Amino acid sequence: MPDLRIASPDKATHAAASDRLGRALRDLRISVTDRCNFRCVYCMPKEVFGKDYAFLDRKEILSFEEIARLARIFRELGIEKVRLTGGEPLVRRNLEQLIEMLARIPGLDLTLTTNGSLLERKARSFKDAGLQRITVSLDSLDDGVFRRMNDVDFPVGKVLEGIEAAAAAGLAPVKINMVVKRGENEASILPMARHFRGSGHILRFIEYMDVGHTNGWRMDDVVTAREIIEMIGAEAPLEAVDPNYPGEVAERWRYRDGGGEIGVIASVTQAFCRDCTRIRLSTEGKLYTCLFATAGHDLRALVRGGASDVEIREAIAAIWAKRTDRYSEIRTAETAKLQKVEMSYIGG
Ligand code: SAM
Ligand code: SF4
Ligand code: SF4
Repeated sequence: MPDLRIASPDKATHAAASDRLGRALRDLRISVTDRCNFRCVYCMPKEVFGKDYAFLDRKEILSFEEIARLARIFRELGIEKVRLTGGEPLVRRNLEQLIEMLARIPGLDLTLTTNGSLLERKARSFKDAGLQRITVSLDSLDDGVFRRMNDVDFPVGKVLEGIEAAAAAGLAPVKINMVVKRGENEASILPMARHFRGSGHILRFIEYMDVGHTNGWRMDDVVTAREIIEMIGAEAPLEAVDPNYPGEVAERWRYRDGGGEIGVIASVTQAFCRDCTRIRLSTEGKLYTCLFATAGHDLRALVRGGASDVEIREAIAAIWAKRTDRYSEIRTAETAKLQKVEMSYIGG
């Protein structure tokens, strides 16, 4: 039986459900839209996500009220951190309203991941609405490389303006995520490291993953975290830093000369499933217990079918209690071919 002892949301302690491998439920990622204004080659390749691609219909997607209700229930189950993601979360209209609703839930750490393209004019209102931190994805400072990787010819300068606007609004330190794909942007690693060294922002390199089933992933395309650290360390000596908390996905490194910190997310070469406390809510209200899941659990049916908060809470606890996912630990070239759900839908 899952542990269903529930504390009231305003109390500091909450029931922490545990899965089959003893992992607590701590982090919720909410995908607020499956749409995006970019077509990053490793995430939403144009050939698949073209003009005729069937994105979710308006009535299929969870409303802000439905999302906020579920977030409150998740908080009661022990969730401490909520990350809004997508698709591109900023293409969902009036996102600040959702931020405001979630920020009212006591004890929640609220953050967001964005491609930064629309951030400049939104950063201040997000901060005012209660957003605490932000992560901006940026794969190169080279305008040509960046335009090729986002595949919609979007200029890098606009994203840099978005990052500065976020910092100026008080969302510093901004985390910058760079996915490294061999043959696309490994030459951008050092210029990115140099640019953000000493800036106060925290640059994190992500190993290219086999998410979804449309990006044609091959192990040969992965530039490993080890290679990246060696490359940067050869130019500017680095030392390892302890994690901020158990289960932190990024391995932390610090410049020995005090130039700040970088991180590597080695999801392919050093799987961290053992400590994985993450669950994902898709745009249409399906619950996924792993980024690489092939199927989800329909929470929207419960929400729209009149289930009470207690019934929904018990359903989520039961799903978590059965969880055995550890995809990255058992990844092979064969599993990479599975029909996994797309990252733009499930939320990165
Ligand atoms: N659109 C937003 C963005 O790009 O930041 C949020 C959603 S995106 C799916 C979340 C994160 O997943 C981004 O940092 C993106 O670079 C990363 N991502 C997408 N596809 C990936 C892949 N195949 N391997 C590694 N990271 C990936
Ligand atoms: Fe869009 Fe983010 Fe995927 Fe790029 S990584 S296509 S910005 S959802
Ligand atoms: Fe968590 Fe699944 Fe990623 Fe492992 S593969 S860290 S279980 S999301």
